[in-house]
Amino acid sequence: MGNRGMEELIPLVNRLQDAASNVGQSCSLNLPQIAVVGGQSAGKSSVLENFVGRDFLPRGSGVVTRRPLILQMLSANTEYGEFLHCKGKKFTDFDEIRQEIEAETCRLTGSNKGISPVPINLRIHSPHVLNLTLVDLPGITKVPVGDQPADIEYQIRDMIMQFICKENCLILAVTPANTDLANSDALKLAKDVDPQGQRTIGVITKLDLMDAGTDARNILENRLLPLRRGYIGVVNRSQKDIDGRKDIKAALLAEQQFFLSHPAYRHMADSMGTLYLQRILNQQLTNHIRDTLPAVRSHLQDQLLALNREAEEYRQFSPDDPARRTKTLLQLVQRLSVDFEKLIEGSGDEVDTVSLSAGARINRIFHERFPYELVKMESDERKLRREINYAIRNIHGVRTGLFTPDMAFEAIVKKQISQLKVPCFKFVDMVGQELTSTVYTCINKLSSFPKLRDETERIVSSEIREQESKCRDQVLLLIDIQLAYVNTKHEDFIGFTNAQRTHNQNNQKTAAGLAGNQGVAPLSSLLVIRKGWLTISNIGIMKGGAKEYWFILTAESLSWFKDEEERV
Ligand code: GDP
Ligand code: MG
Repeated sequence: MGNRGMEELIPLVNRLQDAASNVGQSCSLNLPQIAVVGGQSAGKSSVLENFVGRDFLPRGSGVVTRRPLILQMLSANTEYGEFLHCKGKKFTDFDEIRQEIEAETCRLTGSNKGISPVPINLRIHSPHVLNLTLVDLPGITKVPVGDQPADIEYQIRDMIMQFICKENCLILAVTPANTDLANSDALKLAKDVDPQGQRTIGVITKLDLMDAGTDARNILENRLLPLRRGYIGVVNRSQKDIDGRKDIKAALLAEQQFFLSHPAYRHMADSMGTLYLQRILNQQLTNHIRDTLPAVRSHLQDQLLALNREAEEYRQFSPDDPARRTKTLLQLVQRLSVDFEKLIEGSGDEVDTVSLSAGARINRIFHERFPYELVKMESDERKLRREINYAIRNIHGVRTGLFTPDMAFEAIVKKQISQLKVPCFKFVDMVGQELTSTVYTCINKLSSFPKLRDETERIVSSEIREQESKCRDQVLLLIDIQLAYVNTKHEDFIGFTNAQRTHNQNNQKTAAGLAGNQGVAPLSSLLVIRKGWLTISNIGIMKGGAKEYWFILTAESLSWFKDEEERV
């Protein structure tokens, strides 16, 4: 491919990007692109603005970038910006571009600081830029602010992952030099998806803010955490520069000066700085597109074929014939319900051998996660022992009791039972989430009918939410029932005499020893906790080899045994 052709590569992919965004598929096309990732305030926006030579990105504290911004820079004679969502309108005032980004962000996310993976596409034509397209992503954050959802950290991480997990995505990992580089959020995230460092480009910002006497030479020379594409250091404008409206041209000059005069960077000054970074990125993106284009092309052709086939199916019904149209829509919804059922109930056709289906995952929640939650719950036995002891003594008060009061037993048992609420609710949540994500998987097949998809999704998810809340009430009711009345006559409940008999049969010697030492006569309640579940009995002595914990409650003392064999 000649040089002329090479220059066209980035604009070509830009057009694909726009086309993909128009049909809401920006991620699935797997286009070659560069995604900008970094912690909050790492300097991502500053780097992008330096490329354009203008202030045009929203700034502020907290999560400012809340939707991906696909920034396409195109070398041109005139300077203006243009959004895909209001095509044709030329923005020559860059303050207006900022306002439009803010307004468009809020349009989808509300002003409550939520985030959305639907990108904003901005194209900037300018004589000062090289052809380059970058995807600006929300900064990695740790703490939710305002009424941000509590799991904002994971939401943002997920969104970044959606972009950078694609093999075709180069990762521009922006890390400020004045923090611990080995702990860089950006580099860590990049390493997760690109362990060999093949497609990550490191950018070190804030070199001017390093402590006196320290420098980043080690990392910039690619020795500390080596990346195949290396690191480039930059110095952006400080907050003071921005407040003082220092213009970007002056800042770029100052940056150059910084590298030329710094003893640690002087020798590599010509491969440092914003302008060099811009040039390298243009080059790397072009090469990257050249390398990936054949695969992308064949992928697109496959998709085209598949879509044509699908279109053929729908062509059978004419839009003028409402009856056939309704029928097709109904068929789609029916297919959705069949798909959903298959994923939950299991099915033999097209068995997934790569990942667990939703039904299998729910099964796992029931049989592995839930028991595990219960095991975790009963971890503090020492505390339980103390509580039992106190409960008995407090019920006797000033009296010296002879028998262990039933009330102590009830108090302790009820406390244990009500503790089941937390894991149970968590469990309901987990299953609910599993269902919701299954619905999403199925509904994606309706993506050719956006309205139908949205409406179906709304109805189905509100149904799930409703049922989930009913289920939660039901669980609560079950637990309340158990709390209201402890039925010691239930067949699972081994009564005192019964238990003693079983116990004696099982282990006569120990039982005798026990009677001698502790005085079994006043012994009236025993709590047995097994790994994974909890049985409470009035002297419940469990048979079988499972690890058991025994509490023997007596008026004076409380003994504790871990296993029959381990008993002293
Ligand atoms: P973002 O959250 O990653 O987009 O970070 P910004 O680009 O908004 O930068 C956050 C703050 O750091 C701003 O106040 C910038 O002025 C400042 N900043 C960014 N890069 C540098 C740098 O290289 N040197 C100095 N001194 N300040 C910087
Ligand atoms: Mg920013």
